[in-house]
Amino acid sequence: MKYSDSVRKIKGVGEKAEQNFHKLGIWEIGDLLEHYPRDYDEFHDVVPVSELEEGKQMAVEGVLRGKPVVKNTPRMKIIRACLEDGSGAVQVTWFNMPFLAGQLHMGTRYLLRGKVGRVNGNIVLEQPKLYSRNEFYKNVGKMLPIYPLTAGLTNNQVAKAVQSALAGCEGITEFLPAEIRKRHGLIGFHKAVQDIHFPKNRVEFLKARKRLVFDELFLYQVALKAIRSRRDCASPHVMEERKEVEVFRESLPFSLTEAQDYVFQEIVQDMTGGRVMNRLVQGDVGSGKTIVAVMALYLAVCNGSQGAFMVPTEVLAAQHHASLQKMLGQFGVRVGLLTGSLTAKQKREGKEMLVSGEWDIVVGTHAVLQDNVAFRDLALVITDEQHRFGVRQREMLSEKGEEPHILAMSATPIPRTLALVLYGDMDLSVIRERPADRLPIKNCVVGTDFRPRAYKFMREQIALGHQVYVICPMVEENGESELESVSIYAEKLRGIFQDSVVVDGLHGKMKPQEKNDRMERFGSGEIDILVSTTVVEVGIDVPNATVIMIENAERFGLAQLHQLRGRVGRGPDQSYCILMYGTDSKESRERLSILSDTNDGFRIAREDLKLRGQGDFFGVRQSGDKLFQLADIYEDAKILTIANEEAGHFCFEEVHSFYRKNKRFAERLEHYMGKVSL
Ligand code: ADP
Ligand code: MG
Repeated sequence: MKYSDSVRKIKGVGEKAEQNFHKLGIWEIGDLLEHYPRDYDEFHDVVPVSELEEGKQMAVEGVLRGKPVVKNTPRMKIIRACLEDGSGAVQVTWFNMPFLAGQLHMGTRYLLRGKVGRVNGNIVLEQPKLYSRNEFYKNVGKMLPIYPLTAGLTNNQVAKAVQSALAGCEGITEFLPAEIRKRHGLIGFHKAVQDIHFPKNRVEFLKARKRLVFDELFLYQVALKAIRSRRDCASPHVMEERKEVEVFRESLPFSLTEAQDYVFQEIVQDMTGGRVMNRLVQGDVGSGKTIVAVMALYLAVCNGSQGAFMVPTEVLAAQHHASLQKMLGQFGVRVGLLTGSLTAKQKREGKEMLVSGEWDIVVGTHAVLQDNVAFRDLALVITDEQHRFGVRQREMLSEKGEEPHILAMSATPIPRTLALVLYGDMDLSVIRERPADRLPIKNCVVGTDFRPRAYKFMREQIALGHQVYVICPMVEENGESELESVSIYAEKLRGIFQDSVVVDGLHGKMKPQEKNDRMERFGSGEIDILVSTTVVEVGIDVPNATVIMIENAERFGLAQLHQLRGRVGRGPDQSYCILMYGTDSKESRERLSILSDTNDGFRIAREDLKLRGQGDFFGVRQSGDKLFQLADIYEDAKILTIANEEAGHFCFEEVHSFYRKNKRFAERLEHYMGKVSL
């Protein structure tokens, strides 16, 4: 058997199992071997019955008391028995194993291992396996793999297949240079793969993990380096500085902050410097990234080229389109909008405007990526809220021009080290300060009994002419649809606030047109209280809103709460954020208090990362699939540093020779190249 053979070659893997493996993305034996366990079942020694802990897999040994009770329900057969040791007795339950009834004997000793559950307040042992002492003690100390599965495939099946593959597979090729392994005490690839599946103990597991984590981070860094060198090329769009941009700047109702000014200078240098710009601007919510982007777009337009401003949502597209038109229209710049919800005719016309060059700038959503969208001369691509985009999407957009300059903007502040890893191929600009006229948002963390006072406070703010966001509870848990939960809440508020206050709702399931309409009415001040789900989270800018109340705040991540809170405090007025927890626990209160202690997005992101690990932090939002299988950029910071250094020394001849020699290495490198942002 070879790494690249089909999984069908494994004994016991038939057509059915093969199909199920395909569903998990496993085609070749190598894929299977790199389908690492998501967790382990640590096989511990027997404990006294009195020490059973709910939720764990545990083993006990004792004597069966009383006759096992067999119960037949329409759906299953249940056997209940009672096991006793010196410390106490526990109820044992088996489902759908009727044959056991004849095998269990009163007064006999048994060694059982299963999941500890709780029924009617009592600890029970569920569906345990019966072990002989011999068999049991062979396993103690081991960590048994728990695999990501799919319907039709059991954990046991996967484990067995992996075992046969490991036994029958010769030549799992080592691909790290021996010196690198020696320098950092990394075990061989073959052994690492073996031990990540079936570690004999924790120490072996950690060694295997270290090696494989190193691989992931190292390859990723090498990929970054390769991409960076590819991108580092002369620009076909070398721009000239233009006086018009200064005039535009003078026309703004405010002056730029020092940070905005500095970042814009960096951008100008990139665009006029002769190389292709590839820059990420990180700025906390409300730090004023949009205006910097607008100035860059105007610079491109003044140089006779076109710019594209891509955003993740229709609502944000409409908002940016309106504000760009307002700002740049007076200078003769033609700004178009291209989104999925436009009519076919509008889209067709828009595309014509772009090809002919009648539009200087297009603001759009994914619709801009469609095949038949072309530009006359696209020189600058900007993505707002860039963490919301997949890599491919951004690349597709830049392919619509000839090596256009790229500017990505993100409000998800991540620590610098992390940014270097994730966006290591980009230059980084940071806007740390917020416009000077901003007062820090006042925060409070409260329980639901605070609601009446919160409503009173909102009423006062509305009387002063301000507006309010209410983020209503998330949907999943109460079983309502998004629509129901928003409309029920809005109805409730209408009842409380009566006619003088206009309440309306916004949620993700609305048609784009409806969403835009709601946002417009909120933006123009027609709506006083906007009840919404987290759809308002990205980018929405209504400076007159001064209060945001977030229900069930404990269910959100800190970084997300910070984004939500960033909807207020966008104008000169004092703003307030009410974080309301639904279920009270010391832990969630402590977590939320981090938010009330600071408005600094960078600090919050750091805490969030610490608390949740990178998995959730980037989680589903990123693109659905995880960047690394094993590595955790935060936890594995040490290995990351080493991998970074080694990748730095790794010269390209070496990369190429590896590439040719080792298919798996080549595949992995390509895999990571695809994951590098932009
Ligand atoms: P974000 O960085 O979250 O995208 P925006 O670019 O939407 O923030 O800016 C938030 C608000 O701040 C907008 O209403 C914008 O007009 C305003 N703004 C931007 N720069 C300044 C500034 N230098 N002084 C005052 N207000 C500003
Ligand atoms: Mg923004």
